[in-house]
Amino acid sequence: MASGNDGPACDFCMGHYPRWEYPCDDHHQVVVLGGDLPTSVESEGSWLACEPCAEQIEGGNVDGLMLHTLHHLLPRHPGLPRKVAATLVIDAQDLFRHHRQGDRVAWG
Ligand SMILES: [Zn+2]
Repeated sequence: MASGNDGPACDFCMGHYPRWEYPCDDHHQVVVLGGDLPTSVESEGSWLACEPCAEQIEGGNVDGLMLHTLHHLLPRHPGLPRKVAATLVIDAQDLFRHHRQGDRVAWG
C-alpha cells in the first residue's frame, strides 16, 4: 500500500479517503519509463481503494478502473505520455488481480 503526506491514499487512483482494503500478496512490478532502464516497484501487502475504485473492482470493470485511475494520474504527472501511463496502470492492475487474496474488507 502507498502512503503520502496527507495520510493513506487509494492505491489505484491515489485519491484521498480510501474506504476498502483488498488483501493482496507482496509482489513487484517492472516499470519501463520511456528510454530509461527498467526499475522495479515493490507492492507490500493489501491495496487500499476509494469508493469509486471499489465500485469498478466489484463490478469487474477493468477498463473503468483503468480510465478512472488515468483520469487522476495524468494531471499529477504532466510529462508522462498517456500511452506510457496507460501501460503502467494496466500492468499494475493486472498484477493486483493476479495477486489479490479474497474479498475486500471495510477500512478506516
Ligand atoms: Zn481510487
